[in-house]
Amino acid sequence: MNSIVILTGAGISAESGVPTFRASDGLWCGHRVEDVATPEGFEANPALVQDFYNERRRQLREVAPNAAHRALARLGVEWPGDVLVVTQNVDDLHDRAHAEVPETEGFGLIHMHGELLKARCTETGQVCDWRDDIRPDTVSPFSDDATLRPHIVWFGEMPLAMHVIERALAKCSLFVSIGTSGNVYPAAGFVSAARRAGAHTVELNLEPSLGQSLFEERHYGPATEIVPAFVERLLSR
Ligand code: NAD
Repeated sequence: MNSIVILTGAGISAESGVPTFRASDGLWCGHRVEDVATPEGFEANPALVQDFYNERRRQLREVAPNAAHRALARLGVEWPGDVLVVTQNVDDLHDRAHAEVPETEGFGLIHMHGELLKARCTETGQVCDWRDDIRPDTVSPFSDDATLRPHIVWFGEMPLAMHVIERALAKCSLFVSIGTSGNVYPAAGFVSAARRAGAHTVELNLEPSLGQSLFEERHYGPATEIVPAFVERLLSR
């Protein structure tokens, strides 16, 4: 088993204190998805949308990677083949867990839905690191005539680095889906692509996801318990 692709979702960060998305009633931290996670919502009320992501960005200062993020960082170091972590999460908890271990060739991390700690120019599309609040009138560092938007892929927009992800899925021998409800496409379709490539497919989640039947192996429980245990088993094989 050489090449591993791991898809993570909001569930892996839940025990760090980052709220998940659809867990209760389709609201993301009290807001309708249409209002805060679509281009139309941003156009209708940029101040509300900026405040929503400002709040999420500030919250990152109060949370830390948990045992599940750290287990995947360990896998990236110790696994003899390629490991690609594709996260739907916009938090930086995978990044911080990986920063704690030595850099390894063959390890990759893709934020397919963008990152809270980056901002994008509304005019040129250029992206830069950004740790502060963004106001509707914050001037873009790339153009005096433009403002900034969060570097977040909203519903209706194309996820990032899809060609890299598709290439990795087409040649992976193990696909693991962690803490994702299977509601959001195209991520929810990755398991089928991995199956077409002949990969072994594993779901690790608190409860069975919508696509549970597509996974050959399934383990349910809190990510901080089942992810380190899975990584331990994988590395000791
Ligand atoms: P989701 O909220 O739709 O689903 C979360 C899944 O995690 C559920 O299946 C739930 O059973 C599971 N879960 C909850 N607690 C868990 C735990 N302790 N251990 C293991 N699993 C647990 O999340 P999604 O599928 O990632 O889709 C949400 C979208 O919203 C993503 O596209 C993402 O961009 C965005 N989002 C990101 C964050 C973040 O960056 N942390 C948080 C909320 C939403």
